[in-house]
Amino acid sequence: MSDDAMSDDAVRDDATVPMRCAACGRFRAYAPDDRYCLLCGHDALEIACACGRAFNYALVETGASLHCPRCGRAWRGRASEFDP
Ligand SMILES: [Zn+2]
Ligand SMILES: [Zn+2]
Repeated sequence: MSDDAMSDDAVRDDATVPMRCAACGRFRAYAPDDRYCLLCGHDALEIACACGRAFNYALVETGASLHCPRCGRAWRGRASEFDP
């Protein structure tokens, strides 16, 4: 009699990473291998703030402006400074 049945919960829905597009400034959940922005098509996805803070907090907030909770950097809706 085997008591330790292996639970097959290898299928997880949360295999996504929150990333920010430096071109349009939108936060969204991507697969870890994604490189291109879903909305504008730029390959400018950032996986974390310059201070190293991941963007998990950004996906639950839908406000127009966000700040990094670690370094206080402001995320604006559009980052015009990143225009090529
Ligand atoms: Zn974009
Ligand atoms: Zn930061």
